[in-house]
Amino acid sequence: MIQKYLEQANELDSSDVLKKYRDKFFTSGENLIYLDGNSLGRLPVETIRLMEQAVKHQWGERLIRSWNENWINLPERTASKIAQIVGARDDEIFVGDSTSINLYKLVFGVLKTSQNKSQILTDNLNFPSDHYILQGIVENHFPNYEIIIAKSNDNISIETNQLVELINEKTALLTLSHAAYKSSFLYDMKKITKAAQEKGAIVLWDLSHSAGVVPIKLKECNADLAIGCTYKYLNGGPGAPAFLYIRKDLQEKLINPIWGWFGDQRPFEFNLEYKHADSINKFGVGTPNILSLAAIEPGLNIIIEAGIENIRKKSIDETNFLIELIKQFLLPIDFSISSPLKSDLRGSHISIKHDEAFRISKAMIAPKNNGIKIIPDFRPPNNIRLGIAPLYTSFKDIFNSIIRIREIVETGEYKLYPRAKEDLVT
Ligand SMILES: *Cc1c(COP(=O)(O)O)cnc(C)c1O
Repeated sequence: MIQKYLEQANELDSSDVLKKYRDKFFTSGENLIYLDGNSLGRLPVETIRLMEQAVKHQWGERLIRSWNENWINLPERTASKIAQIVGARDDEIFVGDSTSINLYKLVFGVLKTSQNKSQILTDNLNFPSDHYILQGIVENHFPNYEIIIAKSNDNISIETNQLVELINEKTALLTLSHAAYKSSFLYDMKKITKAAQEKGAIVLWDLSHSAGVVPIKLKECNADLAIGCTYKYLNGGPGAPAFLYIRKDLQEKLINPIWGWFGDQRPFEFNLEYKHADSINKFGVGTPNILSLAAIEPGLNIIIEAGIENIRKKSIDETNFLIELIKQFLLPIDFSISSPLKSDLRGSHISIKHDEAFRISKAMIAPKNNGIKIIPDFRPPNNIRLGIAPLYTSFKDIFNSIIRIREIVETGEYKLYPRAKEDLVT
């Protein structure tokens, strides 16, 4: 049985049309399987060269001259590549700030310009920071608003109808993650957007867990607003600037609550009165984070070259293979699957559950014997997320990981690890 799956993994790897991309990412000598590309993508080899250039040459040698020589157009160049990946127009994407801050700007902008509305709708599968941003805006600026939270029955997915039925004439905004961070549930962007718009609500999608691995068609879905990270499947580096999307016809209406010089029409005229830019740049605030912005480009180039449809196809094949192995080897030892089983209903990570998930994840990351190291991530109370990044995760990685997890449980190896959480970042 095991042999059959190993052979299958090897066959799938040898016929993989994306296999050459694995070498475009840096790996150290460590024998490591990395299943956390949905949290922090791997480092593209090209980024190392580019960073050396940006730090030593552009910053070190050219100093402030680099603004005109290299940096001033960098945000727009990066935005145009992200636009390609998420199916938007170049002038609908702004790159900068963090996902949380971009969410703040957009939600504030919507509430400020909505009339006779008093509700924001989201669900309990959405990311905590997204909830916090909503709570802070309501508490501090819009106390007449109420946040309605739709509840998933199984903590995995939620029906489109359940969401749509909660939208009424008081709903200003519906905001959801496109792929849920814990379960990987993938929402039907087109259907939900259309239904919400018909009921007069604006829809904001958080693309953090889908950008770079799921084909996103903002234009085709007539999406209103979106935000997303660049450090997950886009491989932009830790804390790399996020992006924000506003459909062209909404840009004039929405206001940015934070008025800074990079949102001004002519920042370098140094006028003392703010006049917002007449473009997506209105959503800029301060000086772009040039070094981490520069680090995004190589990852985007790889995705554009590999093709998002090819990436999605491999992601589906790999998550299907992963689920088959989980069913075969892990369900009998008290694991359960907390992601959708149908591939069109999920993104590219699979969440599994076990009462001892925390200690099992510790044994995966830091084996005490000579076992292979695997980095997944743990999400409380008892989820292990296995992130599949098709550009560098192989079928063999998936096979080896499942066999190793089984070993950790069957030998009781996880019992060598303390129950208490000691690391700040899991
Ligand atoms: C990762 C993630 C974020 C992170 O936001 P930051 O501001 O970059 O910390 C936000 N939303 C979702 C859905 C995420 O998955």
